[in-house]
Amino acid sequence: MELAEFIGLRPVPCAGLLVTLTRRCPLSCAHCSTSSTSSGEEPGAGQLLDFVRSFTSDDRPDVMLLTGGEPLVRPALVSELAVAAGTAGTRSVLLSGMFFARADRIPGPVLRAIGAVDHFSASLDAHHEREVPRRAVFRALHQLLDAGTSVSFHLTGSGPDDPYLANVTAHIRREFADRVPMLVNEVRAVGRAASWATATAHRPAPGRVAPCAMAAWPVVAFDGTVLACCNQRVVDLRPVPPHLRLGHVAEDDWPTVRARSLASPLLRMVRAVGPDHLRERYAPSACGPGHCAGCRELSEHPAVTEGARRDASGPAGELLDRETARMQADAGPVALLRRYGCPPYADLVTLPGRTGSAR
Ligand code: SF4
Repeated sequence: MELAEFIGLRPVPCAGLLVTLTRRCPLSCAHCSTSSTSSGEEPGAGQLLDFVRSFTSDDRPDVMLLTGGEPLVRPALVSELAVAAGTAGTRSVLLSGMFFARADRIPGPVLRAIGAVDHFSASLDAHHEREVPRRAVFRALHQLLDAGTSVSFHLTGSGPDDPYLANVTAHIRREFADRVPMLVNEVRAVGRAASWATATAHRPAPGRVAPCAMAAWPVVAFDGTVLACCNQRVVDLRPVPPHLRLGHVAEDDWPTVRARSLASPLLRMVRAVGPDHLRERYAPSACGPGHCAGCRELSEHPAVTEGARRDASGPAGELLDRETARMQADAGPVALLRRYGCPPYADLVTLPGRTGSAR
């Protein structure tokens, strides 16, 4: 599976699931927005496995993204989750900060975990490079490519004019002869779960219709809570705003979480028109904090909840949700990353990859 394929699914409600395996990480990158440490919290392995084993061939996400922290501090769990998801037909993708690349050879348990997933993505940025040298990351990626693994880079810089991004993207294209696609983001306080295409990059004009594609895929947080979106403040905030909480892996299975996400009138409207337009439309006097900050407060405004219920319940709301997703999916992964990633580098998501043909 190549990068462009699963990024293309990002706006489709419940086509994907983001799973945070741990907040632990052996690295100490200065910019880490998830505050990951060597002893951070993590959901129970049994609860995660039970949740993923509730996927069926008829009711499952198309893709499951495993992230952290550093998910490869739990390599056996990565393998078990990938196998469980694959049994139902769900493909899995793993994002790593590449701590293991400091050794000359990739350790066996890590190699087996990477071998169990359908795509592997390596995080790289200036802060990471102080912890793990670029040449070590390249060496590990060459080893994985040679073994037939589908791989990509997940790069972060300070913005479109960051010379680091110009340098590292050119270097990767030369080094791997365009066989490795890239997702390029800008640094912001969103965390690695969110960084698969981030929410806070997208700041539409106040009141404008601006669908939020980041509310499409459920996210399993560090404590097992399942959220409706990947915004790091939502992932970290407790209690979770009611309209953004979908359940908990200890109590709910995938069909329940999916049904809650798809049936919620408020989430349908957030995905279709965005939170700013919702507030302006139903509660103009409540307009104030922008985009994600305003979205987190939506359920505090009964007029918004009632307006969404009136306009987005039943088959009409279902159709609205489906058509919004279809239009964004049809626009493709490059268009999505022009909105949510670092726009000048959006095209790099479609580099051919291991198979030699862009999807
Ligand atoms: S907080 Fe709301 S607007 Fe922001 S990413 Fe989440 S769902 Fe979208």
